[in-house]
Amino acid sequence: MAEEERVAHEEYKCPSCGAPMHFDPASHSLKCDYCDTVIKLNDENSGQEFSLDDAETEVDLSWQQENHVLRCSACGAENVVNKKEMSLVCPFCGSTQVVEVNELAGKKPNRIIPFNITEEAARACYQRFLKKKLFCPSSVKKLNIECQVNGVYIPSWTYDADTYSSYHGRLGEHYTVTVGSGKDRRTEVRTRYFTISGRIQVFFDDVLVNAGSSINNKELEKLEPYDTNNSNDFNESFLAGFGSEHYSLTVKNGFNRAKEIMAPQIKRRILDQYTYDVVDYLNVKTQYDNVTYKYVLLPVWIGNFKIKEKSYRFLVNGENGKTTGKYPMSALRISLFTLFIIAVVVGIILYFVLSE
Ligand SMILES: [Zn+2]
Ligand SMILES: [Zn+2]
Repeated sequence: MAEEERVAHEEYKCPSCGAPMHFDPASHSLKCDYCDTVIKLNDENSGQEFSLDDAETEVDLSWQQENHVLRCSACGAENVVNKKEMSLVCPFCGSTQVVEVNELAGKKPNRIIPFNITEEAARACYQRFLKKKLFCPSSVKKLNIECQVNGVYIPSWTYDADTYSSYHGRLGEHYTVTVGSGKDRRTEVRTRYFTISGRIQVFFDDVLVNAGSSINNKELEKLEPYDTNNSNDFNESFLAGFGSEHYSLTVKNGFNRAKEIMAPQIKRRILDQYTYDVVDYLNVKTQYDNVTYKYVLLPVWIGNFKIKEKSYRFLVNGENGKTTGKYPMSALRISLFTLFIIAVVVGIILYFVLSE
């Protein structure tokens, strides 16, 4: 992204020279590129949570009046942009085909995890990621990554909940018996079934749900963890120079996704109390109490690595550098690896055939 395209937002103007300022991940402050003026930002963390019951009614009107939603015709990303900002470049793909859509900016973020990883460091993260990939050609591993990376904030909901579950189910334990006699004598594995039932209480803290659509749930899982409990209170200055995506999942609907994340963890906690080999069935009924949420913006570097006419999208967690994404694969390396696996399998088969 070219510097002049970034921001022309009143609040981010340098008090000494009037040039645009941007958030600098290395110093966690607003920095002017022209005169080196630095404004330190508050790292406040109120730890405040909000009740899900009031979620629909809590709307910050001034936030809605100051911001609008711009949609990128090229990649479909919806960005929340301050109306004073002149930026006409999509932070997700670099396209200039952005149009205002008739949609409100919605809720104001409660918290933000500021960028900690710089743009250069994000490229270095991808380089290290490539080096660990078996199928990535060595010629690519040696390259100096010099592609475009865009810093964007992804919307997320985090939920806390007290859960009370009642359950009943049937588990099985294996045991062996000796059957037959004489030459026919052999051992067989049988299963002894028993029923279980009870109640369990599990508390969940900051269950993270992706509220945007520009990166999918699988990708976000690969970028996690984000330290949402230590996020900063939201302050628009952190956005200077970065894009922020509009949420497409409402806070109420997001809680359904949170339940999907909690359910297997509750099941695990129930099963951990027993010794068993198989689960015949397990029915769990859960009640959720004291549900609270926060609207947290998560920092992500999105890169497009281009080589031989092909482009590979990668993502870097802007807080800790965790990386995921696509990368070039060498057909030769894949074939060699497949041949190696076949050779090992054939070797094992031959070993057993010959030792019969
Ligand atoms: Zn300045
Ligand atoms: Zn776009």
